[in-house]
Amino acid sequence: MQDLNTFRLIERISNLLRSEERKKYAAIGLQPVHVQVLDYLATCNRFSDTPASVADYLGLTKGTVSQSLQVLERKGYIEKCQDKLDGRVVHLALSPAGTQLLNDVKPLDIFEQAQEAVSSKKFTSIEASLSAMLAELQKANNAKSFGVCHSCVNFVRLQENYLCNLTQLQLSQFDAKKICREHVLAEDNVVPPKQAD
Ligand code: SF4
Repeated sequence: MQDLNTFRLIERISNLLRSEERKKYAAIGLQPVHVQVLDYLATCNRFSDTPASVADYLGLTKGTVSQSLQVLERKGYIEKCQDKLDGRVVHLALSPAGTQLLNDVKPLDIFEQAQEAVSSKKFTSIEASLSAMLAELQKANNAKSFGVCHSCVNFVRLQENYLCNLTQLQLSQFDAKKICREHVLAEDNVVPPKQAD
């Protein structure tokens, strides 16, 4: 269960960052994949700067990568050159404009904010640190937390079951473990309490 929760947290953090990326890059006429290609080319060595390597690294088809490279070349963000020994091999490199663009758009502002907020805290598990990271990203993004009910500020423990302070309805043990669109994270309740597990 712990592994599944960790997986879900990673997925939610990724989704949130992707959605933030989509908004940011759309403003400059790019998609996240275009910036991912630029980011890869900025870090790979000269044996790995080919279209096939880009496809392998990003887990994309050659067709998708080819379209992305066309867009980036047309906009002047990358340059192509033939291999000196094997004319069939094409090498890719960032142009000065591509390097500048990458510096301007990475990293995402909300990621930097969230990282700063959690960097001074100590966590007892990966799950707790990911939960805190997700909460900070959601705060910075004004996104709904969709957290687990038992970690909500409106979650109240009664003798037999639980109560939602927002709706004033009773909650069962089963309800307490479900996620909710009205969830607001209780600051002192980042790690799930044992009673509701
Ligand atoms: S608002 Fe949603 S998450 Fe919060 S206690 Fe009520 S049902 Fe649970």
